[in-house]
Formats: sequence, C-alpha cells, structure tokens
Amino acid sequence: MRWVVVVAMVFTFALAAPATALAAPPEYYPPIEYVPAAGSNYAVGRTMAITQIIIHETGGTWISAINWFQNPRSRVSAHYLVKAWGGGIVQFVAEGDTAFQARVANPYSIGIEHEFDPRHAVWHTDAQYRSSALLVCAIARRYGIPADRAHIIGHNEVPGTDHSDPGPTWNWTYYMSLVRACSTDRAQGVARSTLRTIDNQGFAPAAGLEPETVSDEVALLQWDLAYLGFMNVDEVAAGGGRFGPITEAALTAFQESNGVPPTGSYGDRTAAALAQSLVANPSDVPIKDLDAETESDDVSKLQTALQKLGYIDLVTGYYGPMTLDAVSAFQQDNGIEATGAYGPVTRMALATRTRAPTVGDAVGDAAQDALIALVPSVPVGSVMFVDAALLP
Ligand SMILES: [Zn+2]
Repeated sequence: MRWVVVVAMVFTFALAAPATALAAPPEYYPPIEYVPAAGSNYAVGRTMAITQIIIHETGGTWISAINWFQNPRSRVSAHYLVKAWGGGIVQFVAEGDTAFQARVANPYSIGIEHEFDPRHAVWHTDAQYRSSALLVCAIARRYGIPADRAHIIGHNEVPGTDHSDPGPTWNWTYYMSLVRACSTDRAQGVARSTLRTIDNQGFAPAAGLEPETVSDEVALLQWDLAYLGFMNVDEVAAGGGRFGPITEAALTAFQESNGVPPTGSYGDRTAAALAQSLVANPSDVPIKDLDAETESDDVSKLQTALQKLGYIDLVTGYYGPMTLDAVSAFQQDNGIEATGAYGPVTRMALATRTRAPTVGDAVGDAAQDALIALVPSVPVGSVMFVDAALLP
C-alpha cells in the first residue's frame, strides 16, 4: 500500500517539475553546476543524433547569460556556460534535450557558451579554455564525436548563421591542442566506452574501420566473423583487435558469400550484411549490455552461458562478485580486457564460444522469427536517439 502512495507522489512531482532533476553525467565529466533554463527556451528530446559541438561567446557577463537563459521570453539557451574567472561550468539544458542556440544545427549539436565581455574587461582565461576543453573531450567521448574542427565548430561556422561568435580573440589553435591532448590521454578508455555499433544494437560495429587499426570495434568485427565461421576462434582470441591481413581475408570471404563486392574493407553494405547474418544466426547469450549489481533474466542467461563453459557453477540471476569474476576470467582467456562487464565484444566472444556447431547452416523460419523478436526493431541505417540515458 505504501509504495502506491510513493509512486503517486513521485509521479505528481514529475508532472509538476519536469526540469528540476537531471541524470548524473558519466563519471569522466568535469564538475558541473545545474541551473535549469526556462522550459520555453529549449525543446525536450532530440530528433537527430548528436554529432557536433558548437562554441559560443556570450558578449555579456556570466550572470547576465544565466538570467537570459532563465527568462522564459528569451527563447534561447545553451547546454553549457563556462565562466571566464576560474572556468566553472554551468549546465542549463540536458544533452538529451535540444537547446535553442544555433538554429539549423540545434537538432544535432551541443552548444557551449563562454563568458566573454570586453566592455566589462572580461576576457577568455586559461582556466576557461582548459575547463571547456575537458568538457568537450568528455562530450566527444560520450557520443563518439571526432575531436577535430569539422565536429567542434564556432557559432559563426554554422551554415546560414548571422552570428560572428567566437570572435578573433578566441584562440582556436590553443583550444584544440587542449582538446586533442585530453582525447589522446584517454584514447584507451575512449575506445572502450564509445564503441560504435550499428544502431546501438551491440552486435555489429558501425562501418568505416581502417586497415591496421587496433580497436574494440575491430575486435567485435573479428568475433562476429568467428561466430559466423569465417575466422578461427583462437586466432581472434590471440589477435588483440588488429585489422590485419587475416581479418581482411575473412572479410573478403564473408563478402563473397553474401553478395557484397569482395573488397576486404568494412563499409556500409558489408556492415548491413553482417548485421543481417547475425540476426539470421541466433545465439543464446543476452543481447543487451548488462551492469553489475543488477538482477534479471538476462543475467541468468549470461550465467547459464558461463556455466556451460565452466566459468561459474550457479545461476542466480544476480550480477554480483561471482559473475564479475567469471566474466573477467572468460575475458582474460579470450584476449578481452578483463573488466568483468558484459558489453558487445564479450557478448560476441561468448556467443562464439557457446555456439551450436551447426551455425552457418540454413536456419529455419521459426528460429529466425524467434530471434527477430528478441532484437530491437530498428531498421538498419536509421538514426537512433543516442542520449536516452539523460531523459528524465
Ligand atoms: Zn553564439
């Protein structure tokens, strides 16, 4: 009885004050203070994936910018404002919502204002550059946005804009050197947390992997190819995720048997064919990523697969220390960083190690239908909303 009342209260609160709570950003974000913009100054949600970061200058003081974004009549906002003195960061709009800051670019960009007010002798400071670069670096990491000038642009560079900010005192060269330094420092971690997969379904990497690169996306591609019988499992486990000649040969063989021009490179058509082949060859491992300290049928499924391989002796449905240890041991044995977390690469490695020996044979319609029912029904190539985690 009591929880019904609590639920009702929470629901009422959510209706009355939708903008007061904001999901915590990932732990690699710099400290941020949240000051909600007026509801009329932004649109809830996104219609496109986030692919650009837009740099602005306020042309006024920090406090006047805050007042302006909180004024319901201004009809403008930005996601963030970085203070000149000390570089403090204020957030006004959730990244998953559309701030009104750059007209045509609003749907696909995150806007960052920088306090700058020459009339009151407020100039850009080193603290501001550094703090903003950390924020941009974190955003780029979160959405897999390349840390370059094609993706981090000035308001004055937005198509059709009549704005001229940031002006000539904004030091792009210095700023981008800070952004790049931060991105390179974290390259290892970045690769792991921004693993791009087709439509975020988590079983085929997004198109565009380059030969000779080493990444989790390449490792995922290799496990996919091993799962479908085009690569040797032990070679993949020992390969360290490098896109070398063996991967190229396997990819060519896969292309040949799927009616794609056999180039050995991983483009859009091959990525789509790979996703479709995987859908047509179902596996018993959970399709969703799983977090530690959660309890679900998917965790039971994961444990059952680990039990089959001798890594665990109990199926509890709870992702606790026992499961973390078992996943870590499995990862270690398969050349995957032993984090204990269940994500795309681990999923396909587990699917490969537990697969039925008949994978690759014709699969019956009933089995295909059963798998299709398990896969989120998003058509290949469509734009997915990437920031669902931030929605209240
Ligand atoms: Zn601007």
